[in-house]
Amino acid sequence: MRQLTCTAPGVVEWCDVPPPELEDPGDALVRPVAVARCEIDPLLVMAGPRAADGPGFGFALGHEAVVEIVALGAAVGAGAGAGAGLAVGDLALCSFQVGCGTCGACTGGLSAMCEELPLLSDYGMQPLSGTEYGGMLSDLVRVPHAATMLVPVPAGVDPVQLASVPDNVIDGYRSVAPHLAQAPGADVLVVIHGNRSIGLYAALSALALGAGSVTVESDDPAVLEQAGTFGARPVVTDLGRHRERYPLVVDCGTRAEGLLHAVDSVAHEGVLHSVSYYLDPDIVLPLGKMYTRGLRFHIGRAHSASLLPEVVGLIAAGRLDPAPVTTSVIGWDEAPARYLDDTIKLVVTR
Ligand SMILES: [Zn+2]
Ligand SMILES: [Zn+2]
Repeated sequence: MRQLTCTAPGVVEWCDVPPPELEDPGDALVRPVAVARCEIDPLLVMAGPRAADGPGFGFALGHEAVVEIVALGAAVGAGAGAGAGLAVGDLALCSFQVGCGTCGACTGGLSAMCEELPLLSDYGMQPLSGTEYGGMLSDLVRVPHAATMLVPVPAGVDPVQLASVPDNVIDGYRSVAPHLAQAPGADVLVVIHGNRSIGLYAALSALALGAGSVTVESDDPAVLEQAGTFGARPVVTDLGRHRERYPLVVDCGTRAEGLLHAVDSVAHEGVLHSVSYYLDPDIVLPLGKMYTRGLRFHIGRAHSASLLPEVVGLIAAGRLDPAPVTTSVIGWDEAPARYLDDTIKLVVTR
């Protein structure tokens, strides 16, 4: 079968690989039909395969997808999750993190921390975990523990607009949802200095969840333009001194000055939720100032399988629509040439 593969730093190509098979009664085989490019994908591609994997090794790409069910193991229907009711031919969203669905972490809402599999067991990210689970830009993918990994696509919703939901959409959503539940109607600031779509999904989610106001600060004109199209207030910043302070601030990006700007923008006793992974291990946070002002700082990965039913439920109810963040939709055959296009949210569709 055909699999979009990163074979060298900056090189993406179709490779012919053996198709996966059902290995366990809880497995499903799925055919991805719409795949969104995650913010991490260009970074993974530019880094290329790990030297430890030896010459000639390539890793599968793609982990945000809407999939069609091709085959189901005999035990999937007996599972406890949202995917238990799926049938061959149905469309579903697939958790980008692979998890068992039954351990304490998986059943406790922390599915990214599944106790049965190595940390960072994800589709399309072999260099992070060292295990190849396959990628969504493939003709066929094996989904273990399918009853908890898959969630049905709501009727009438365009799969293209759902493709990013399993990762970047829920990543933005979880940075505001629990805090707005604690403080309904709070004013929200999203500081975007990289990983653009995640911050925009946070802003969209905050609007959907009834934030008093949603401001997006960035030094990226494309981000500000996109934010303005769906009702967020775009504000240009050089990531220097803060303008105003907000009870809930989302930090989304890659740069230390962006994080420090976000810290500086939090109101006393406010919440700062970072969806950022910082490569630099030596970033210094002003902990004294954060202590004095009572800032509550959250950082960590999203829990895809745990959050998918909640977010898909909001989309099905018409309360959340991820569509305004999508900036480019390309055909399946264009993927090798265009996977690194400079666009905020790229979706590949058959
Ligand atoms: Zn991702
Ligand atoms: Zn688990």
